[in-house]
Amino acid sequence: MSATGKVPAVGIDLGTTYSCVAVWHHNRIEIIANDQGNRTTPSCVAFNETERLVGDAAKNQAAYNPTNTIFDVKRLIGRRASDETVREDMKTWPFQVVAGVDDKPKIVVTYKGEKKEFAAEEISSMVLVKMKSVAETFLGSTVEKAVVTVPAYFNDSQRQSTKDAAKVAGLDVLRIVNEPTAAAIAYALDKRAGIDGKMNVLVFDLGGGTFDVSILSIDKKGVIEVKATAGDTHLGGEDFDNRMVNHFVRQFKRKHNIDISKNVKALGRLRVHCERAKSIISTAIQTNIDIDCLCNTIDFSANFTRAKFDELNLDLFEKCIETLRNCLNDANMSKDSIDEVVLVGGSIRIPKVQGLLQGFFNGKSLCQRINPDEAVAYGAGVLAANLSNMGDEDVKDLTLIDVTPLSLGVECKGDVMVVLIPRNSPIPTKKENNFTTARDHQTSVDICVYQGERSISRENYFLGEIRLSGLPSALEGEVKIKVCFEIDANGILNVSAREITTGINKAIKITNNGSLSTVEIEKMIEDAERYKFEDEAHVKKVKAHEALETYVYKLRTKIKDYKVRLRLRRTGISVKDLEDTQHKIEEVIEWLDENSDAEIAELKDIEVELLDICRRMKLNLVLKK
Ligand code: AMP
Repeated sequence: MSATGKVPAVGIDLGTTYSCVAVWHHNRIEIIANDQGNRTTPSCVAFNETERLVGDAAKNQAAYNPTNTIFDVKRLIGRRASDETVREDMKTWPFQVVAGVDDKPKIVVTYKGEKKEFAAEEISSMVLVKMKSVAETFLGSTVEKAVVTVPAYFNDSQRQSTKDAAKVAGLDVLRIVNEPTAAAIAYALDKRAGIDGKMNVLVFDLGGGTFDVSILSIDKKGVIEVKATAGDTHLGGEDFDNRMVNHFVRQFKRKHNIDISKNVKALGRLRVHCERAKSIISTAIQTNIDIDCLCNTIDFSANFTRAKFDELNLDLFEKCIETLRNCLNDANMSKDSIDEVVLVGGSIRIPKVQGLLQGFFNGKSLCQRINPDEAVAYGAGVLAANLSNMGDEDVKDLTLIDVTPLSLGVECKGDVMVVLIPRNSPIPTKKENNFTTARDHQTSVDICVYQGERSISRENYFLGEIRLSGLPSALEGEVKIKVCFEIDANGILNVSAREITTGINKAIKITNNGSLSTVEIEKMIEDAERYKFEDEAHVKKVKAHEALETYVYKLRTKIKDYKVRLRLRRTGISVKDLEDTQHKIEEVIEWLDENSDAEIAELKDIEVELLDICRRMKLNLVLKK
């Protein structure tokens, strides 16, 4: 609780590889550490025979349970299973993804011996629940409201699906905010006192799975205005790892004539080592990769240099710089007008990326004052405080003007995309346009909505359609239809259409874009409750098992103690009694060893027997639960 008695809203950076949660607490932003003491938590969920794991616990067992350890779900959310990028990713993921209803990707796992399918929103919601509980443990109260960040370049469908995931996690989303914008908030708050009038900031955000670049102006009064944004929702550290993995797969084939490209376990282990090596060569010039028994008892050992890493990924790094150039063009600004280049995201530690960036800005020094792993969550935490009317004067004064990353329009005759809202328009915004029928006596029209920059509609991302029927029968072009596009502060689009003469109205939440229906969300909320209940029941079992194990070991130590035995003998306990007890203790220890998944009732029965022994022998031994 805060001083005002209100439970604060949290800011969550829901990352491809790591997530981070922040909250306004005791007059400042707190980045909250999880149960392992880590300030970021792997966006990873695993399923096994007995339990579901989220975060560090899930990532730590990934190497030996690769097919049921789910990561990278941010690369699936709001996409279709048939999307080119999804099909490419499927080749590298050790877990299985299939096409569900309406081409929605479903992740297939084996959980407690049964095959289960999960939507990307469900897996994301599990990560969000984990972040929510990290915050709840810290605050000592429930958390219901959150600001959740998304890559600036996420399209409408990806934003809507992220919002759905938060809903399933039991979070009321105060705002979906763009990651570089959140980082700019963190920077602005830090820099505020030092801003003279207005300054132009470029946020370069290269994370685990996505790349964003945003150009913003920040003024002394706390107004943060995004001028332009550009990016790639499929470019980041994971892609650099993949290039390394492929390189070593080729090397292994050359050396041993064995193709490990389909060996899920070997690939999983190789990936872990590659990510580690990648981080090492951000500070060292070279490192070694040593993996025991990578495949068929063959050990793998290789040297890896920073130069090789740069060579493998140079085209991807250059793609980042090209995107940056486009963003400056969109903002109609020259590189000289940028006052500060702010680096965000784990992958900006790569020296080559920093070198190219610095080279582009003619040697300008790059701002590394804000923490690249935490800045996004920090900014989201500030915005959460601002939107729930908490925080100090600086937080309350904050005004944010963001933009929509991609153009939005409808398809007209000849597959032409007619743009209603061009990219980089400030949001929220509302635009209307009149259209007419394309044929004589046409009594219904389908209004197809697309997002993207190509002039041929089908080259863009199809968001969904509205059918307006019951139109008056008239000649081509006589019936007029007004189409209205409205983007809210979350960057999410609502479309409505109206026939002007008779006034037939139709408003839609875009369908067909892969977002979830109310019924689906409710079902997922129900499932999430069930999983939570099962998780809690499992933890209870594990704790009861642990308590009984500790108790029986203590009892064994006591019974073996010479002085205790002497005292017991004096109180009339026979040698046979002592031997039987010892035998019973060994039996229980063995049983506990073999039944790590024992039911509470079974443990209770043993507990009763042991307590009875203690009572009979008047041993003062307390079972701590
Ligand atoms: P983020 O999404 O911002 O949490 O960034 C995570 C990505 O940053 C992962 O792909 C990490 O492998 C990568 N990363 C973290 N530290 C380093 C480092 N020292 N050098 C290169 N990449 C790193």
